[in-house]
Amino acid sequence: MKEAFKRKINEECGVVAVFNCHDASEIVFYGLHALQHRGQEGCGIVCSNNGDFKLIKGAGLVHENFNESTLKKLVGDMGIGHVNYPSIRGGNDVSMLQPYLFRHCDGDFAIANNGSMVNYQEIRLFLEHNGSIFQSNSDAEMIAHLIKKEQNSNMLEAIKGALNKLEGSFACVIMTEDKIYACRDKHGFKPLSLGKLNGGYVVVSESCAFELCVADPIRDIEPGEILVISKDGLHSEKYAEDINHHMCAMEYIYFARPDSEIEGVNVHLYRRETGRLLAKESPVEADVVVGVPDSSLSAAMGYAEESGIPNETGLIKNKYVGRTFIQPSQRLREKTVRMKLSTVSAVVRGKRVILVDDSIVRGTTSKRIVTLLKESGAKEVHVRICSPQMMHPCYYGVDTSNKVDLIGAFKTIDEIKEAIGADSLAFLTVDSLYKAGKRLELCTACFSGLYPTKIYE
Ligand code: AMP
Ligand code: SF4
Repeated sequence: MKEAFKRKINEECGVVAVFNCHDASEIVFYGLHALQHRGQEGCGIVCSNNGDFKLIKGAGLVHENFNESTLKKLVGDMGIGHVNYPSIRGGNDVSMLQPYLFRHCDGDFAIANNGSMVNYQEIRLFLEHNGSIFQSNSDAEMIAHLIKKEQNSNMLEAIKGALNKLEGSFACVIMTEDKIYACRDKHGFKPLSLGKLNGGYVVVSESCAFELCVADPIRDIEPGEILVISKDGLHSEKYAEDINHHMCAMEYIYFARPDSEIEGVNVHLYRRETGRLLAKESPVEADVVVGVPDSSLSAAMGYAEESGIPNETGLIKNKYVGRTFIQPSQRLREKTVRMKLSTVSAVVRGKRVILVDDSIVRGTTSKRIVTLLKESGAKEVHVRICSPQMMHPCYYGVDTSNKVDLIGAFKTIDEIKEAIGADSLAFLTVDSLYKAGKRLELCTACFSGLYPTKIYE
């Protein structure tokens, strides 16, 4: 087989679709703004005005790319949008920015996707051997080619045929002249929700975006579902037979915003519960509980409630620095952690601190924070991680697909404790991930090694 395509996987991205709403571009803009935490590398919006498609996309944040005058250029009452997550596999690559707009004699269409296919190589080679030419290494572009390869003039049937060939994670929105198709893979790895706005509809990666769009939530798109939104209303079909529900546990642990409801479970309450469970599983005598802002504050609250040890603001985040993984090299990542957090010395000096964080991937963040706390006079630092030890790579579009990067893959808990300089270290059990949300349909593969799909090397 040909050498693997040098892919720059679209990691945790965010998608928005708007149907039958006046000035759709504005609503897509607000939706993307609310989903900015899911991707800061770039963004794009495409709108359709009775089949006349216009696309604007670019590197950077949503408010850096769109303003009143750019949004005015995107005319129409339908639109889709996308925010891109930065990848560790290469520099900024504009060809990876979504949505993609395709011109076709049967009608133009646009697509935006969040996810990653495990059989990308196989499908891409099949398509190339059958005449397709690619501009990028993106899954979304591949899905579009696959749809057209179906040679079915009925778009719904063509999309269903294409989706059935995909293995892995996807939550995508496809816009044609008069319809929007919202689709989720048969495992439901990525969240995707439907809401209503006046007489129209809004589809978003996370329900936190509904509020800014002034839309009312209706329901989640189901795993293996394709929802067609048209002037006739909603039409739902299951395109896959073998539905095998496995929502990504990392959505609850780290990615999603605390105010989002994912499949009926609020993210803040889920995290608070992981903190409570961890306090029961791994108690330690200490003076203060300190959460790492922002994603671990809910878990720290839960740990403090359960243990009876006061929860304090011991770390302050500089809001003007992006998420740690935004820098593609290890050297730059370390710098970013320093730029991002500072300690409140008055809170930690002379104290035994329980430091609550959501996860350890490479160990850079924990090591740096333990050092910061000790430099600020903390007597002891006990690290409590509200997820299990991450020992396996993720192949479903999360930026941990390289095993060599995972400290938990090669070191014992004791060795990790030494490496990050903590006085003690404990992780949550996999069992507690299920308990925290009172639900079993979770993917926990990066912790347990139990992958819900076949893995292609
Ligand atoms: P590390 O410094 O490599 O151990 O990264 C762990 C920190 O990054 C944690 O504090 C998390 O908040 C955050 N994190 C965990 N998983 C991811 C991910 N896939 N992408 C970006 N950040 C992550
Ligand atoms: Fe999420 Fe981990 Fe499963 Fe990847 S392997 S989908 S990060 S739970």
